[in-house]
Amino acid sequence: MKPLLITIDGPAGAGKTSVSRMLAARLGYKVVDTGALYRAVAYHAKSAGLQPDDDNGLEKLCNSLNLKFIQNEKGQRLLSGESDISDKIRTPEITMLSSAVSARPVVRTYLLKIQREIGREKRLIFEGRDMGTVVFPDADVKFFLTASLKTRSLRRYQELASQPLEAVAEDMKRRDSNDTNRTLSPLQPAQDAVIIDSTDLSLEAVAEKMLSYINALNE
Ligand code: C5P
Repeated sequence: MKPLLITIDGPAGAGKTSVSRMLAARLGYKVVDTGALYRAVAYHAKSAGLQPDDDNGLEKLCNSLNLKFIQNEKGQRLLSGESDISDKIRTPEITMLSSAVSARPVVRTYLLKIQREIGREKRLIFEGRDMGTVVFPDADVKFFLTASLKTRSLRRYQELASQPLEAVAEDMKRRDSNDTNRTLSPLQPAQDAVIIDSTDLSLEAVAEKMLSYINALNE
């Protein structure tokens, strides 16, 4: 099979991360979790005391960052300089802040460059919000994974158990609205994306569906 660049976009909790990992294991590919990059910017913005709409401050901050994915015994990790920030970027506060900074053009421009550099390699699965629409419009295979708000909130709640279910659902609704309604790179399926609704499907079944689609491309 020719090496592919695969994109999976969709809202939070749709199962992108789990499904990407399953697909990657089956295909021998690597996953790039682009949400982690937005979270890293949010984490550093908070540490620097920046407001999420301070474009000058965010631009300077981005230019000072050195973000890199590595693979170690804990799986895929995100390094900022020498420090492993993978766990620090998963708090509810950084989650909401990542959605706010992701609407700022300076942040998107900075991360676009990093993502395209990583994407020069193939055999990669990029998961995010605008992978198939903006970052890799020429990707070989594009998926858009969605599910009902109720299902997505429940999945996230079971995964993190850091907030009550109602709070998880409320945060997710706000994030959906921010991500879908922003002017720049809003969350939407690419015209040529295969749309999969995972509300009534197990994530294994979703991965199987995607694999059949990928295999059919090579027949
Ligand atoms: O995927 P994850 O939930 O970790 O992403 C955190 C936030 O980063 C999202 O709510 C979204 O605002 C932003 N994001 C984005 N574009 C991407 C990936 C994530 O705007 N490609």
